[in-house]
Amino acid sequence: MNSDRFILNRKQLDVDTANFWIKHETMKENMEKYMRNTPLVKQDINRFSQIQRNEFLGRILGVKEGRKILPFIINNSINANIYKNTNSWPVIARTKPVYKPQLAVLDLPNIRNDICCNVLHWSSNDHIIAALGKIIYMWHVPSATMSKSINCFRDVISLRMDMDSTALAFSCDETYGCEIKIWNLFTSKIIEKRGPLGCSHSCYITCIEYHCSNKFMIIGCKKGNMAVTTTELERISHVRYAHNLLDIIKIKCSPNGKYVASSGYDGYVNIWSFPHLELLHSFYQPFCSRGISWHPWESSYLCIGTTNGTLSLINTALGKCLDKVTDEASIIYDITFNKLSGELVTSQCFCESGDPGSYGSQINVLSRLNRVVDRFEGHNRRVLFLEWSPDNTILASAGSDETIHLWKFFGAMKKNKFKKNIIADCFNLEKFIR
Ligand SMILES: [Zn+2]
Repeated sequence: MNSDRFILNRKQLDVDTANFWIKHETMKENMEKYMRNTPLVKQDINRFSQIQRNEFLGRILGVKEGRKILPFIINNSINANIYKNTNSWPVIARTKPVYKPQLAVLDLPNIRNDICCNVLHWSSNDHIIAALGKIIYMWHVPSATMSKSINCFRDVISLRMDMDSTALAFSCDETYGCEIKIWNLFTSKIIEKRGPLGCSHSCYITCIEYHCSNKFMIIGCKKGNMAVTTTELERISHVRYAHNLLDIIKIKCSPNGKYVASSGYDGYVNIWSFPHLELLHSFYQPFCSRGISWHPWESSYLCIGTTNGTLSLINTALGKCLDKVTDEASIIYDITFNKLSGELVTSQCFCESGDPGSYGSQINVLSRLNRVVDRFEGHNRRVLFLEWSPDNTILASAGSDETIHLWKFFGAMKKNKFKKNIIADCFNLEKFIR
């Protein structure tokens, strides 16, 4: 018999082990306080890995957490619910910061750095597409060569490649009535359409998004109008003044294809049904939200990053903000979920009041709204664009310092760790298409 017949868990009454766990619980509790009180840009990324190390050590000692101490010695001050957070999402977070080999740093001279432009994209055929002024360049990443370029004769405002990498949609400023063009990469033909949003001559398209079925596009313009069109630019549905006559900053389609999120200069993030664009929910932030990203597996979860340093986690099915954290000393320019790990990447700038020398730019990796588990540093200006390689292992970041950095996001970590989730993701997509 393994245990004492009078006190069933006597074998677990090892004083050293019990002490170890009590210390560990205290450490975890302190960590919770630390995360609540420390802004994201100031969190020490190594602190979290000490806790992970302790948990690992505990497993080696062979004692399951939570079953190691008999009930009469449980410390009541430890609140068992403290770890059930509303500020979390499904995630396979890294246990310690990774070694960050920077694959490349490339020049992006004259890249547009307005809040309302979307001029960088990483396509499914492994090209980084960037508009530099009036010219769109396509850079093939594996061979590190420039494969194509196109002169658009006007400053490009937004661009997006379709899922098959056969067509590139783009828009320019000073066009006549929200003109959009689609360049077929095989035939080199360009189709164009004026006025799909019914706007006057002084308007232009600020963002373009392909639907995950690859049969539709969602476009938004400077006057806050939105439309769903086919890939041949036939209009399916249309909303006027979706953002109160102000610029639409970003449009993102949910992974299951049923919802569309849009953010605008009016401070609203709106959730629409697809394809009819019926307004389902509206979330107001007093500043504009340039970063919006859908969770890759939990299709109702949306994260929003705002220029006043607020990060919010939203359940769009309930129309409810689950939690938010604010650090007014920082500005969030973009956010994106990694599809393999579910970690959230944010690009943040910060400046301590009265000290211009403390200006900094960070790319943080979060496992929860208030927990930074890793950090990528290399830019010295704001980072407006975060893009993933097709296999989600390389992160591209670009911004006002006119450079693009390519980072190995998982360091030397093995990819098959995430296999299960990729299958789950594909399944969701398939279900929608049927
Ligand atoms: Zn317009």
